[in-house]
Amino acid sequence: MENLRIAVFPGSFDPITLGHESVIRRALPLFDKIIVAIGINADKRCMFPLQTRLAFIRERFKDEPKVEADSFSSLTVDYCRQNHIRFLLRGLRTAADFEFERIVGLSNKLLQPDLETVFLLTDNRYSFINSSVVRDVLSHGGNPEGFVSVPVLEMIRAYCAGTKKS
Ligand code: ADP
Repeated sequence: MENLRIAVFPGSFDPITLGHESVIRRALPLFDKIIVAIGINADKRCMFPLQTRLAFIRERFKDEPKVEADSFSSLTVDYCRQNHIRFLLRGLRTAADFEFERIVGLSNKLLQPDLETVFLLTDNRYSFINSSVVRDVLSHGGNPEGFVSVPVLEMIRAYCAGTKKS
């Protein structure tokens, strides 16, 4: 277990976008397993419930045995320590991302020195995408095609149709 190269890709994934998917797929050759882990933040209001966000990720990567989805409510470093994980995966889109990641990465290093953060520069095609734009588009009745993958789009539509009925 300890010798496996397992990475955690933490985020809210509200919902998972083409940008997230691209980082995960590009990181696959680097790791034996990637856990896409949804950090539960009680202060953050999400559009999609936790189980729905996990279902989007699981459906999208159902044919990729190296990718798992999970959630955690502790510090990311504690989740990693408890699960014997030595790598964190993050994507870098912009200089603003870098400044944010620099602070988080150095803080995590102080909290757990043997945890390494691995950064991938994001694919230029997706670097403008973020989950909050997808939520904005959806909340105004727009079509987020091109921001999320087709299977995720279908699940979002099914979820939205279900919430309208109830
Ligand atoms: P969330 O939107 O899920 O809350 P974050 O913004 O915290 O996610 O991002 C989780 C990780 O996914 C971060 O490392 C971030 O850089 C990466 N990421 C987010 N959007 C994209 C994108 N469009 N392309 C590549 N990586 C992305």
